[in-house]
Amino acid sequence: MHFSFWEYNNINSKENCIVIGSGIVGLSTAIEIKKRHPSMPVLVVEKYYPPQGASTKNAGFACFGSVTELIDDLDHMSKQSVIEIVKMRWQGIQLLNERLSSNGISIDFDGGKELFDKNEFVTDKEIKLCNEIMLLATGIENYFTRLTNDDFSSLNAQCLGMHKEGQLDPMVMVETLNNIAIEVGVKFLYGHAVSDINFRSKQVVLNENIKLDFNKLFICTNGFTQSLLPNLEVNPARNHVMITNELDNLQWKGVYHYDKGYYYFRRVGNRILLGGARNFDPSKEDTNSFEFNEKIKTELIRFLNENIAPGMNARPMYWWTGILGVGPSKYPIIKEIEKDCYLGVRLGGMGVAIGSFLGKEVVNLAFDN
Ligand SMILES: Cc1cc2nc3c(=O)[nH]c(=O)nc-3n(C[C@H](O)[C@H](O)[C@H](O)COP(=O)(O)OP(=O)(O)OC[C@H]3O[C@@H](n4cnc5c(N)ncnc54)[C@H](O)[C@@H]3O)c2cc1C
Repeated sequence: MHFSFWEYNNINSKENCIVIGSGIVGLSTAIEIKKRHPSMPVLVVEKYYPPQGASTKNAGFACFGSVTELIDDLDHMSKQSVIEIVKMRWQGIQLLNERLSSNGISIDFDGGKELFDKNEFVTDKEIKLCNEIMLLATGIENYFTRLTNDDFSSLNAQCLGMHKEGQLDPMVMVETLNNIAIEVGVKFLYGHAVSDINFRSKQVVLNENIKLDFNKLFICTNGFTQSLLPNLEVNPARNHVMITNELDNLQWKGVYHYDKGYYYFRRVGNRILLGGARNFDPSKEDTNSFEFNEKIKTELIRFLNENIAPGMNARPMYWWTGILGVGPSKYPIIKEIEKDCYLGVRLGGMGVAIGSFLGKEVVNLAFDN
């Protein structure tokens, strides 16, 4: 396939800001550039439509960190760093909520709960410490509270409430951001993968050996970044998600976390969405392949039938996988890697919250320098 002269001239410009990837970060980046510089040409290059990154495949949790996740983070980084990361998530969700609500889409802030079986335990001291972190990061007092929860009898050894968590439809989120980007004049080139970047000549190379010039380049490819920058510390991590058949008498609502957030579930209408269990077979899940891991599917079905919906005849009706970008630190990477080339990647498992913030920060970095 070759572009015609007309097609090429319409797409290519030495003035272009090229954004690779049209997930939440790529779209937020493109919108932010236009917000700062309305006349600057912006071209988003994306392999697929719908984009096949995590932004349309995630579970739709708008979350900021549970007590066990924060306690785990404190084992690997300073309290100040944990506060900063939670703050990024919090600011990101405010920005996303503004963008979605100005287009008539709302995030459903029904709250979240962290569940525990009898083998896990968090102390009052740990809850107090996490509440201090949340207060400094979000300004909210007593973010985590102890609750009684009899909805899931095998997971009710303890229950912690997180009253500001929310949920959304990820495809509606991406489509809305896409529409906003088009409205502000962003161009899209779908169905083309960037196979190489020539930093010196300031060109990206597409699979068909088509070369596009750029003025500034933004790489927003998260879990797929190593195919362009193999030495970067962003590792792919696969996650499985299922949605069940329709069920009668589902009483509970909100979003639920279990086992340091490795298992997560919520209602989608009168179905259950359940995902995670990556820690059940970790050595197989550091991949960007979309294939299913039968061991994890079996584990999620067991968890569904034993813990969430025992005796309800719940069955998976839809299965899919998606690819996260993780690394040795939970800090996202926002940096200039070469002159005029910027990275906004490594969002971990809370990209819905942090993604809009990352787009804004990478654009600030590019234009405030
Ligand atoms: C199954 C699953 C469940 C999740 N659940 C949640 C959740 O409930 N809440 C939450 O906050 N987070 C969740 N996450 C994480 C969250 O979805 C991600 O952190 C976030 O979507 C990442 O956004 P992104 O824009 O950085 O990357 P992506 O959405 O992955 O977008 C990257 C895009 O780049 C494109 N691309 C890659 N390489 C190239 C190339 N060479 N050329 C052109 N295009 C390219 C890809 O096609 C892709 O569309 C989940 C992730 C997964 C996988």
